[in-house]
Amino acid sequence: MSVNLRIPGPTPCDEDVLKAMSRQMINHRGPEFREILGRITVGLQEMFETKNDVLTMTSAGTGALESAVVNTLSPDDRVLCVSIGVFGDRFADIGTTYGASVEKLSFPQGTAADPAAVADALKKDASFKAVMVTHNETSTGVTNDLGAIAKAIRGVRPDILILVDAISSLGSVPLPIDAWDLDVVFTGSQKGWMVPPGMAMVAVSKRAWAAAETARIPRYYFDYKKAKSYLEKGETPWTPAVSVYFAMDVALVKLRKEGLANIHARHAKLGQFTRDGVKALGLQLLADERVASNTVTAVRVPDGVDGPELNKLMRTEYNTVLAGGQGPLTGKIFRIGHLGLVSQPDLQACLDALKLALPRVGFTPTAAAAR
Ligand SMILES: *Cc1c(COP(=O)(O)O)cnc(C)c1O
Repeated sequence: MSVNLRIPGPTPCDEDVLKAMSRQMINHRGPEFREILGRITVGLQEMFETKNDVLTMTSAGTGALESAVVNTLSPDDRVLCVSIGVFGDRFADIGTTYGASVEKLSFPQGTAADPAAVADALKKDASFKAVMVTHNETSTGVTNDLGAIAKAIRGVRPDILILVDAISSLGSVPLPIDAWDLDVVFTGSQKGWMVPPGMAMVAVSKRAWAAAETARIPRYYFDYKKAKSYLEKGETPWTPAVSVYFAMDVALVKLRKEGLANIHARHAKLGQFTRDGVKALGLQLLADERVASNTVTAVRVPDGVDGPELNKLMRTEYNTVLAGGQGPLTGKIFRIGHLGLVSQPDLQACLDALKLALPRVGFTPTAAAAR
């Protein structure tokens, strides 16, 4: 029996994708790679709902966060970072590390950012050059209303740069990049894309390209301009993770065949299914349900239960791998990933396992769970 890997990335891959990973190497500066890169680029533009340039880079998702900073900003630039958790804080940290003057606008754990508060912060200080925002905060299981946030931002500052960490949302939940007029939006292969880790994908707007012309933070590996000039000849500047490109090529065929609308509907349904199932066990969600994520669910560890102990029991005796809490939420929550290659039986199995494991760590599921 295979492991039920229920973490928000790396997510499971299907057999065809795994088979693609085991192919023999090819010349990354030859015609076959050129075709693969071309297909991947077009496929991602479709899935991203954008006509903007889409660049692929060999890195973890965090490399994409770093790339957004170094390609668009200069030291001392004022940046507003809208943070609702660990990943919002990471975006701010990267900005600060490179010398930007980052002001953090934080919202309580489990809640989403208030678009009006973002607009107010921009009204108070006209010097902001960019806004950083996380679309889906994987650490708390909350999805920001990014459409409303972008609209509020544009209402105050029509031309400010909007940099979006969409690592755990893009491709899984609606995020029409062009319709929402977003400038740098990125994701990573190991989240909703059903591909192993190793590729970061980023959409770059005209406004972002203009910013790159004057941005003075030093950059080398993650230079968008270099990536674009190589893409024009069907290459990446540096040796890419060729196997991951093979995998993405195969995964995109499957994802496009399912279709964006169907993928979004599947994630919405499974998100609701997970939340309903968790509540039926008598557990509490961390997120305000109105903004709860359809790619990851954060569940409060009940009083008197040892969170890491529960996750260990789930792994060793029920073949189910859950994520724990990060940063300030360590030990206080566990998280269930439901993005990418995931179906209702996977989540039912996870809920069934929880029902058996919880009494063994000191929590009695409610009667509603005894369906
Ligand atoms: C997973 C994730 C990241 C970090 O990705 P890595 O590949 O681990 O660097 C950043 N932001 C969000 C929202 C994520 O879900």
